[in-house]
Amino acid sequence: MNYDFIIIGQGLAGSLLAWRLIERQQKVLVMDDRRRTASSMVAAGMVNPMAGMRFNCHPRMDDWLNAAMVFYQSLERFSGKRYWHPLNMQRLFRSREQRRFYTRRLDEKICQRYLGPELDQTDVPNLVQAPYGGFWQYQTGYVDIPSLLLDIGHWLTQRKALLEQVCDYQQIKLSDRHVSYGDIRAKFLIFCEGYRMQANPWFKALPLQPDKGEILTLTSNENLCKTIINSAHWLVPLRNGDYRFGATHQHQGIDNQPTRQGEKDLRQGLDALLTSSEGLRIKSHLAGVRPATRDRHPFIGVHATHWRLGLFNGFGARGALTIPWYSQRLVNYWLDSVDLPAEANIERCI
Ligand SMILES: Cc1cc2nc3c(=O)[nH]c(=O)nc-3n(C[C@H](O)[C@H](O)[C@H](O)COP(=O)(O)OP(=O)(O)OC[C@H]3O[C@@H](n4cnc5c(N)ncnc54)[C@H](O)[C@@H]3O)c2cc1C
Repeated sequence: MNYDFIIIGQGLAGSLLAWRLIERQQKVLVMDDRRRTASSMVAAGMVNPMAGMRFNCHPRMDDWLNAAMVFYQSLERFSGKRYWHPLNMQRLFRSREQRRFYTRRLDEKICQRYLGPELDQTDVPNLVQAPYGGFWQYQTGYVDIPSLLLDIGHWLTQRKALLEQVCDYQQIKLSDRHVSYGDIRAKFLIFCEGYRMQANPWFKALPLQPDKGEILTLTSNENLCKTIINSAHWLVPLRNGDYRFGATHQHQGIDNQPTRQGEKDLRQGLDALLTSSEGLRIKSHLAGVRPATRDRHPFIGVHATHWRLGLFNGFGARGALTIPWYSQRLVNYWLDSVDLPAEANIERCI
């Protein structure tokens, strides 16, 4: 029962990290409680280089996107399944003033790859209301994260590298030579528990800002849209003909249970986006908790005194886009002694 790495959590973060470490011939064991609270299983998986009200584009965007595309496509070659679904996005202005931000971005070189022209009236689907217009966005789409996690989980099980149980922190023992959990020993242990890191005795002091989100899966008699529609809420046409609609944001009363209020808010959002919701049926209503951080950067690094314990967390609302790149950085740090990106290193919080 000797391993190089134990990983706690098989959400998107733990899964991709395990994959990359195994690719580098490391002996890995992942422990997860059957994804009981995985926000990854709820997420729409959207990739949007220009999120936010002001359509900001992060300076690392090209790197994030390239790493994400390379990673998802190589996984697709391995499994023969599709996870990445490219779809252009129609971004609708929420007010007349918001158009200013779009025109500003047109002059920024870093944004140009992702920005399209303003929407023509005929571009907008019949059932969608766009009173202030909008613009096209490129390099967008969604990752089918639940299928990807189930497939990686299956692959780990076949390798006898997945233990489906809750990690009881009290059972983790540290020594100079290894970290152990019962009779399992490893050189290092990395926590990827999503928002439940709040209960982690070694890392709970870090400023996590959990963000609960509720989301609907819809079916419709009408063709609602063929591209992603993104306004105050977003509507994603799925490959199987269903739609995902979301999402709410809530910073109090954090759990992963869907609520009446959440459904009410989403129904109101649908009424604001669509001219009619006739023929629409809610197929599922789910909730999860985004592991967001106060400064919106991930939490990556090693414990200040217990250097055998690591953390890979804090991916907030953009795990699908950023986890492929940051998982590579963490592997390079551990195996090749390359520095971690400063903005994500947990040393910034000390
Ligand atoms: C409604 C909603 C919509 C979203 N939409 C998007 C989107 O469109 N695009 C996007 O990029 N992101 C989206 N997100 C965010 C996305 O879910 C996260 O960025 C990402 O999935 C986080 O992955 P993670 O592995 O860090 O955490 P999680 O997915 O939460 O995984 C943590 C895992 O650890 C397990 N675990 C925790 N503690 C223990 C323990 N003690 N023992 C054993 N197992 C444990 C959990 O059960 C879980 O399986 C959305 C989130 C929500 C809630």
